[in-house]
Amino acid sequence: MSVAYINIGSNQGDSHAVIEQAIALIEFYSRSAAVRSDYITTAPWGFESQNEFQNIGIAIDWDKSPLELLDTLQRIERTISPSPHRDADGLYIDRVIDIDIIAIDEEIINTERLTVPHPRMHLREFVLKPMYQIAPGWRHPMLAASPKELIERLGC
Ligand code: AMP
Repeated sequence: MSVAYINIGSNQGDSHAVIEQAIALIEFYSRSAAVRSDYITTAPWGFESQNEFQNIGIAIDWDKSPLELLDTLQRIERTISPSPHRDADGLYIDRVIDIDIIAIDEEIINTERLTVPHPRMHLREFVLKPMYQIAPGWRHPMLAASPKELIERLGC
Protein backbone atom coordinates (compact mmCIF):
# COMPACT_ATOMS: atom_id res chain seq x y z
CA MET A 1 0.00 0.00 0.00
CA SER A 2 1.36 3.43 -0.97
CA VAL A 3 0.32 6.94 -0.10
CA ALA A 4 -0.24 9.02 -3.24
CA TYR A 5 -0.16 12.83 -3.09
CA ILE A 6 -2.33 14.45 -5.74
CA ASN A 7 -2.94 18.09 -6.70
CA ILE A 8 -6.19 19.11 -8.37
CA GLY A 9 -6.64 22.50 -10.04
CA SER A 10 -9.28 24.38 -12.03
CA ASN A 11 -9.61 27.91 -13.42
CA GLN A 12 -12.74 27.54 -15.54
CA GLY A 13 -16.37 26.84 -14.70
CA ASP A 14 -17.54 26.14 -11.15
CA SER A 15 -14.04 25.24 -9.92
CA HIS A 16 -14.97 24.18 -6.38
CA ALA A 17 -17.81 21.93 -7.56
CA VAL A 18 -15.62 20.33 -10.21
CA ILE A 19 -12.76 19.71 -7.75
CA GLU A 20 -15.19 18.18 -5.21
CA GLN A 21 -16.50 15.87 -7.96
CA ALA A 22 -12.91 14.83 -8.78
CA ILE A 23 -12.16 14.11 -5.10
CA ALA A 24 -15.31 11.97 -4.80
CA LEU A 25 -14.31 9.94 -7.87
CA ILE A 26 -10.71 9.52 -6.64
CA GLU A 27 -12.04 8.29 -3.27
CA PHE A 28 -14.33 5.84 -5.08
CA TYR A 29 -11.57 4.38 -7.29
CA SER A 30 -8.96 4.25 -4.51
CA ARG A 31 -11.46 2.94 -1.94
CA SER A 32 -9.84 5.38 0.50
CA ALA A 33 -10.86 8.56 2.30
CA ALA A 34 -8.79 11.53 1.14
CA VAL A 35 -6.79 13.65 3.57
CA ARG A 36 -7.21 17.13 2.16
CA SER A 37 -5.59 20.57 2.33
CA ASP A 38 -7.38 23.89 2.27
CA TYR A 39 -8.10 25.42 -1.12
CA ILE A 40 -5.44 27.82 -2.39
CA THR A 41 -6.16 30.58 -4.92
CA THR A 42 -3.33 31.72 -7.20
CA ALA A 43 -2.68 33.43 -10.53
CA PRO A 44 -2.16 31.16 -13.55
CA TRP A 45 1.36 29.63 -13.72
CA GLY A 46 3.10 29.48 -17.09
CA PHE A 47 0.47 31.38 -19.09
CA GLU A 48 -1.61 34.58 -19.08
CA SER A 49 -5.29 34.47 -18.12
CA GLN A 50 -7.80 36.59 -16.19
CA ASN A 51 -9.09 33.48 -14.42
CA GLU A 52 -7.42 32.63 -11.12
CA PHE A 53 -6.82 29.00 -10.21
CA GLN A 54 -8.31 27.07 -7.33
CA ASN A 55 -6.09 24.18 -6.20
CA ILE A 56 -6.20 21.56 -3.48
CA GLY A 57 -3.81 18.82 -2.35
CA ILE A 58 -5.06 15.41 -1.25
CA ALA A 59 -3.43 12.22 0.04
CA ILE A 60 -4.98 8.82 -0.63
CA ASP A 61 -4.04 5.19 -0.08
CA TRP A 62 -3.25 3.41 -3.36
CA ASP A 63 -2.72 -0.34 -3.70
CA LYS A 64 -2.19 -0.67 -7.47
CA SER A 65 0.68 0.46 -9.72
CA PRO A 66 1.65 4.11 -10.32
CA LEU A 67 0.60 3.84 -13.99
CA GLU A 68 -2.81 2.52 -12.96
CA LEU A 69 -3.12 5.63 -10.78
CA LEU A 70 -2.24 7.85 -13.77
CA ASP A 71 -4.76 5.98 -15.96
CA THR A 72 -7.44 6.40 -13.28
CA LEU A 73 -6.78 10.14 -12.86
CA GLN A 74 -6.74 10.74 -16.61
CA ARG A 75 -10.06 8.87 -16.94
CA ILE A 76 -11.53 11.09 -14.20
CA GLU A 77 -10.22 14.22 -16.00
CA ARG A 78 -11.88 13.10 -19.24
CA THR A 79 -15.12 12.21 -17.44
CA ILE A 80 -15.33 15.69 -15.93
CA SER A 81 -14.16 17.62 -18.98
CA PRO A 82 -13.02 16.41 -22.40
CA SER A 83 -11.38 19.81 -23.20
CA PRO A 84 -7.60 19.75 -23.78
CA HIS A 85 -5.15 21.43 -21.33
CA ARG A 86 -2.93 22.85 -24.04
CA ASP A 87 -3.45 24.70 -27.31
CA ALA A 88 -2.27 23.53 -30.75
CA ASP A 89 1.25 24.85 -29.96
CA GLY A 90 1.45 22.85 -26.73
CA LEU A 91 1.04 25.94 -24.54
CA TYR A 92 -1.05 25.95 -21.34
CA ILE A 93 -4.62 27.30 -21.54
CA ASP A 94 -7.55 27.70 -19.12
CA ARG A 95 -8.80 24.32 -17.93
CA VAL A 96 -11.86 22.98 -16.15
CA ILE A 97 -9.81 20.33 -14.37
CA ASP A 98 -6.17 19.29 -14.03
CA ILE A 99 -5.09 16.40 -11.84
CA ASP A 100 -1.38 15.77 -11.21
CA ILE A 101 0.43 13.08 -9.27
CA ILE A 102 2.80 15.03 -7.03
CA ALA A 103 4.44 12.12 -5.21
CA ILE A 104 3.98 8.48 -4.31
CA ASP A 105 5.56 7.92 -0.90
CA GLU A 106 9.19 9.00 -1.47
CA GLU A 107 9.54 6.96 -4.67
CA ILE A 108 11.41 8.19 -7.77
CA ILE A 109 9.76 7.24 -11.09
CA ASN A 110 11.07 8.35 -14.49
CA THR A 111 9.16 6.79 -17.35
CA GLU A 112 7.85 8.19 -20.62
CA ARG A 113 4.34 8.68 -19.22
CA LEU A 114 5.05 9.42 -15.60
CA THR A 115 7.60 11.45 -13.63
CA VAL A 116 7.36 11.33 -9.82
CA PRO A 117 7.90 13.47 -7.82
CA HIS A 118 6.22 15.84 -10.27
CA PRO A 119 9.11 17.63 -12.05
CA ARG A 120 7.79 21.16 -11.37
CA MET A 121 6.34 20.65 -7.90
CA HIS A 122 9.17 22.58 -6.19
CA LEU A 123 8.44 25.64 -8.38
CA ARG A 124 4.73 25.88 -7.56
CA GLU A 125 3.29 27.58 -4.50
CA PHE A 126 -0.12 25.96 -5.21
CA VAL A 127 1.49 22.52 -4.87
CA LEU A 128 3.93 23.15 -2.00
CA LYS A 129 1.54 24.89 0.43
CA PRO A 130 -1.12 22.13 0.22
CA MET A 131 1.66 19.52 0.47
CA TYR A 132 2.93 21.19 3.65
CA GLN A 133 -0.58 20.90 5.14
CA ILE A 134 -1.20 17.25 4.24
CA ALA A 135 2.35 15.83 4.44
CA PRO A 136 4.68 18.03 6.54
CA GLY A 137 7.00 15.08 7.23
CA TRP A 138 7.38 14.03 3.59
CA ARG A 139 10.80 14.59 2.00
CA HIS A 140 11.55 15.16 -1.66
CA PRO A 141 13.76 12.17 -2.53
CA MET A 142 15.96 14.07 -5.00
CA LEU A 143 16.05 17.56 -3.48
CA ALA A 144 16.33 16.16 0.08
CA ALA A 145 13.93 18.76 1.46
CA SER A 146 10.56 18.89 3.22
CA PRO A 147 7.61 20.88 1.84
CA LYS A 148 8.41 23.68 4.33
CA GLU A 149 12.03 23.84 3.15
CA LEU A 150 10.91 23.88 -0.49
CA ILE A 151 8.49 26.75 0.31
CA GLU A 152 11.38 28.66 1.91
CA ARG A 153 13.63 28.00 -1.09
CA LEU A 154 10.92 29.25 -3.46
CA GLY A 155 10.36 32.30 -1.22
CA CYS A 156 6.57 32.16 -1.26
P1 AMP B 1 -0.98 18.16 -18.64
O1 AMP B 1 -1.47 18.33 -20.03
O2 AMP B 1 -0.15 19.31 -18.15
O3 AMP B 1 -2.02 17.73 -17.65
O4 AMP B 1 0.09 16.95 -18.69
C1 AMP B 1 -0.33 15.62 -18.80
C2 AMP B 1 0.82 14.75 -19.29
O5 AMP B 1 1.87 14.71 -18.31
C3 AMP B 1 0.38 13.31 -19.54
O6 AMP B 1 0.83 12.95 -20.83
C4 AMP B 1 1.10 12.49 -18.47
O7 AMP B 1 1.50 11.24 -19.01
C5 AMP B 1 2.30 13.36 -18.14
N1 AMP B 1 2.81 13.23 -16.77
C6 AMP B 1 4.10 12.97 -16.44
N2 AMP B 1 4.28 12.95 -15.11
C7 AMP B 1 3.06 13.23 -14.55
C8 AMP B 1 2.59 13.35 -13.21
N3 AMP B 1 3.44 13.22 -12.16
N4 AMP B 1 1.28 13.62 -13.01
C9 AMP B 1 0.44 13.77 -14.07
N5 AMP B 1 0.81 13.68 -15.36
C10 AMP B 1 2.12 13.40 -15.61
